[in-house]
Amino acid sequence: MAARPTPYLDDLNPAQREAVEAMDGPVLMLAGAGTGKTKALTCRIAHLLNTGRARPNEILAVTFTNKAAREMKERVGRLMGQAVEGMPWLGTFHSICVKLLRRHAELVDLKSNFTILDTDDQIRLLKQLLQAYNIDDKRWPARQLSGIIGNWKNRCWTPDQVPGGEAAAFNNRGVELYAAYQNRLRELNAVDFDDLLLHMVVIFQRHPDVLQQYQRWFKYVLVDEYQDTNVAQYLWLRLLAQGHRNICCVGDDDQSIYGWRGAEVGNILRFEKDFEGAHVVRLEQNYRSTPHILAAASNVIRGNEARLGKELWTAKDEGEKVRLIGHWDGEEEARWIGEEVESLQRGTRGLRPYSLDDMAILVRASHQMRGFEDRFLTIGLPYRVIGGPRFYERLEIRDAMAYFRVVCSNDDDLAFERIVNTPKRGLGDKAQQNIQNAARRHGVSLLEGARILLDEKGIGGKGAKELRTLVDSIARWSEIARSHTSASYVADEDDVIIDESLPERALSHIELAEVILDESGYTTMWQNDKTPEAPGRLENLKELVKALESFENLQGFLEHVSLVMDNDSDAEGEKVSIMTLHAAKGLEFPVVFLPGWEDGLFPSQRAMDETGLKGLEEERRLAYVGITRAEELATISFAGNRRVYGQWQSQMPSRFIDELPEDHVEVLTPPGLYGGGDYGASRLDNAAASANVYNSPGWRRLQERGSQRPTTQPRESRAPTIDAQAISSHTVGDRVFHQKFGYGLVIAIEGDKLEIEFEKAGTKKVVARFVTAPDD
Ligand code: ATP
Ligand code: MG
Repeated sequence: MAARPTPYLDDLNPAQREAVEAMDGPVLMLAGAGTGKTKALTCRIAHLLNTGRARPNEILAVTFTNKAAREMKERVGRLMGQAVEGMPWLGTFHSICVKLLRRHAELVDLKSNFTILDTDDQIRLLKQLLQAYNIDDKRWPARQLSGIIGNWKNRCWTPDQVPGGEAAAFNNRGVELYAAYQNRLRELNAVDFDDLLLHMVVIFQRHPDVLQQYQRWFKYVLVDEYQDTNVAQYLWLRLLAQGHRNICCVGDDDQSIYGWRGAEVGNILRFEKDFEGAHVVRLEQNYRSTPHILAAASNVIRGNEARLGKELWTAKDEGEKVRLIGHWDGEEEARWIGEEVESLQRGTRGLRPYSLDDMAILVRASHQMRGFEDRFLTIGLPYRVIGGPRFYERLEIRDAMAYFRVVCSNDDDLAFERIVNTPKRGLGDKAQQNIQNAARRHGVSLLEGARILLDEKGIGGKGAKELRTLVDSIARWSEIARSHTSASYVADEDDVIIDESLPERALSHIELAEVILDESGYTTMWQNDKTPEAPGRLENLKELVKALESFENLQGFLEHVSLVMDNDSDAEGEKVSIMTLHAAKGLEFPVVFLPGWEDGLFPSQRAMDETGLKGLEEERRLAYVGITRAEELATISFAGNRRVYGQWQSQMPSRFIDELPEDHVEVLTPPGLYGGGDYGASRLDNAAASANVYNSPGWRRLQERGSQRPTTQPRESRAPTIDAQAISSHTVGDRVFHQKFGYGLVIAIEGDKLEIEFEKAGTKKVVARFVTAPDD
């Protein structure tokens, strides 16, 4: 057969070409961001097909997302100049394992039409199990158990393989419950998400004939983003690849960002041991970003100790420096980015005009998206949210909104149905059916039906008591909500309680929202939740309450949201993208905005509170991932203030900002300060990011203006506890460290409060308990 042309090889550099052409034996491509790992992997697939080494269905290629899989398939076709017929084994770990497990389900006592449970189903099942075991799920929540089991599954431990060291989990009953849960799943002919991999590994381990069949079948195994594989995925790959040993993994230890979900960066470091004689290819030329962007990213990641260390270079033109800008608050940050996106679209500032598709906003936490979504809607800027639902479509937000809806319109049955047993109130299907029947009989709403049912004593036990509380609460909340919409209500200074014997003042709609979420038990439900998503959900709820501030009452807010939901994200046309840093992995955009670089937000408070560097290093890798998504223009921003639960909280610029190299950064002046876009370059001054922004007269003016706004001490409740000994030990003149404000000198002591002149944050009064000696 005449050799087919291989034009794609000409587009590769020698190192990439080596990785593509080294077709026999294990290959590891370990290289920094934007060096063309994914590109080389894609070419390798094309080359395997083109040279007749493998047929499409003999190649197993794993990508991190389904979207990446689709793109890779398309690109392979383009590289080969023809559509590729079938590539059934190109997908995510999960999508590939579903297919395999359907073929061999009977080996783990399942039928091939097994169902895959979503998280809600899984929790429901675990709750039933806890009930059957007489375990109080208030003290020992099902979600916590689900987190523990998920963790074990990610490590590839079946119930009988969970090591003794874990025996104390879930009040000593974790392992027993795990076994019971697996049995129950089997009875239901169901699996959860983590089972897909676990079952496959078990099948491969216990049935060598099956394993060998696939080892023979998959002539080539390829894996992108290898640094983020967990133990179960790793074992599965290793088993499969030990046949032909033609495994090619690509990854970057500096981009390992899923440690919190059990990913083990050690897998990539172990590759050479597992696959002896592995061909290791290192790529150093970055084709994505300008030198300034690359220098900024490299400098930040250099702060990590646990890394292999690699240098990147680029042949690109210098381009724009990384831009850094501080804003008064989060709203101003969103406003500025909205305007900046529009002006970049028009092609101002001597730059080429960019399409909205070229621009992305990458946030650390999903709750940050709300501010941008609202702002963009207001100015009519089309946007899409990648890698997750849009803010108002999230589970916890829809639940909370359902509460608000019932409160504002008592006959919103859909909303009532959603919340009547969320959190669990002991109102199962039967009780809910009874409510439905009562409502239908009397031709009234479900809420009214519930009331009638209670009056008729048509429902008993714990459920009855809880339903009564809910129905009465809704009546009370509705009363308050009505007072906000009636013309007579004007919120003013008189609302403040002066004499406690007076009747309670009317709550504002913001307070009402908090009361609803608290009293209904909804917030508590997530507080007791031990899954990794729970803290994010709580943050989203806080963000929801924050969104209420721009409205006069709940009703107005609900109307706004229904408009938001109506904004069709699938509409054609160019759009700016909003996503989390995690979702941005592997992607690239000419223009990238990185907002919210503040200590406590990025790095997250959790990472900062952790002892040891692990959490902080993972956050730093996220920063590296973020900056390296940008091709031409990267803008990092932070806000001096953020509102949390209606309270102002002052923010310090992220410690990662201190790690940006001065020569590659341009500090922009927030337009608010000087009344216009004055983009004169100013020096990045040592630690306090744009110290000149802070020291400028304009900034001080802003601060004065801000002092009229309510402020609170920032997040002290989350600061680490320090022993009493340390408290009494401070004296004036001591150098101390504060979790939030960094280093400073004690200048006065008043009771349990210290006045401290912080090196970066200025003079502040803080509670002595939260201050330690610098070397603590
Ligand atoms: P990440 O670590 O972020 O996933 P990566 O190493 O996978 O990055 P790619 O996405 O494959 O990098 O490539 C980055 C960009 O560089 C892409 O736009 C790609 O088309 C381009 N590129 C890669 N290799 C070359 C090359 N040899 N010549 C020109 N452009 C290249
Ligand atoms: Mg890639």
